[in-house]
Amino acid sequence: MKNLIDYLVKYRYIKSESVKRAFEKVDRRLFVPESFKGRAYSDHPLPIGFNQTISAPSMIAIMLEALDLKRGDKVLEIGTGSGYNAALISEIVGDNVFSIERIPELAEFARDNLRKAGYKVKVLIGDGTLGYEAEAPYDKIIVTAAAPKIPDPLIKQLKIGGKICIPVGERFFCDLILGEKLSDGKLRKKNYGGCAFVPLIGKEGW
Ligand code: SAM
Repeated sequence: MKNLIDYLVKYRYIKSESVKRAFEKVDRRLFVPESFKGRAYSDHPLPIGFNQTISAPSMIAIMLEALDLKRGDKVLEIGTGSGYNAALISEIVGDNVFSIERIPELAEFARDNLRKAGYKVKVLIGDGTLGYEAEAPYDKIIVTAAAPKIPDPLIKQLKIGGKICIPVGERFFCDLILGEKLSDGKLRKKNYGGCAFVPLIGKEGW
């Protein structure tokens, strides 16, 4: 695990102490299926079943750094998958993390992983393109699947000054976009470059 983190720091995927500490605390091995445990500390996406993946650590690091997470932030993640990213977020911000997964079996996999790793993330089953109105507004929103456009409900559920990080574009190849919500309700966007994600499937997705 140390080699992986050294690599992420050396190539500037990890830039801040808080993100580095989170990668040191959360063991990726606890979040990958038994047959892939031997590859848990490689910088690659790995299969978690149902045609879905746990993202590459470098991709996650880029997204967490872009969001500039602070202790106490209320965060919504769309695409729980294995729960690994949610655990990293929770390590930085604390217990105010909500994560939505559309595949019930994966939500259960993530809940189990998060419980064993000691994180109190609230994992919900549903269409994350609609967000989670009950707990809005959020300081930060992270989407870990590729969307055709930024879903309106997610923009609405973001605080003014809040940030959303989301891959937007074609089904499997897209641009990583960071949006900051301005006082007029619009997003100021910055493009972090090309990336590849599984599709975001739902009412406001594919
Ligand atoms: N963040 C995850 C992790 O740390 O393991 C990796 C997520 S994986 C790349 C993308 C996930 O998004 C998949 O588990 C997929 O089922 C989920 N997904 C796709 N569309 C969704 C939607 N509309 N709502 C919730 N989850 C969705």
